[in-house]
Amino acid sequence: MAEPSIFTRILQGDIPGEIVAETERVFAIKDISPQAPLHLLVIPKTQEYRDVAALAAGDPSLLAEMITLANDLAAEHADGDFRVLFNTGAGAGQTVFHVHAHVLAGGLGEKSLVGG
Ligand code: AMP
Repeated sequence: MAEPSIFTRILQGDIPGEIVAETERVFAIKDISPQAPLHLLVIPKTQEYRDVAALAAGDPSLLAEMITLANDLAAEHADGDFRVLFNTGAGAGQTVFHVHAHVLAGGLGEKSLVGG
């Protein structure tokens, strides 16, 4: 058995964390170091998938559930518009290898990070 990730430990109540939503297979917490007015992490309850590429290959419907929850939370906690980010690999800044979506919302402005 793999060591429980920091997110699994929060889900299990072993360490503190602010769980803002929970479904059968997915949960969401507030990021401890917010980079936007609303910065949530949407996380599968299973820690089987280390990153979004593994999740997409292994269980695409679970990835879709994460995006649906992100959409619901952006509507509930902000104006409904949001940005999703998956750091994938240490070289891209991933530090927790239990796949999670960063969901950023609230006063992001209209300028995209890339393009337009
Ligand atoms: P990443 O760098 O993409 O792997 O993202 C990991 C995220 O987890 C970072 O944005 C951290 O701020 C966040 N984080 C780390 N520990 C905690 C914690 N105990 N509670 C909430 N968020 C955390």
